[in-house]
Amino acid sequence: MLPLELLQILACPLCKGDLALSNDGTSLCCFSCDKEYPVVGSIPVLLPE
Ligand SMILES: [Zn+2]
Repeated sequence: MLPLELLQILACPLCKGDLALSNDGTSLCCFSCDKEYPVVGSIPVLLPE
């Protein structure tokens, strides 16, 4: 599981919006642009495609 402190400092690389952890904890979703980023292990992969 992702540390909450880490989640709080992360922002969407595309729009700098807030990110929310998905219900199953395997991805982060951007509130602003609806883009999803995978979480590999406990490391979020915030790479715009
Ligand atoms: Zn975004």
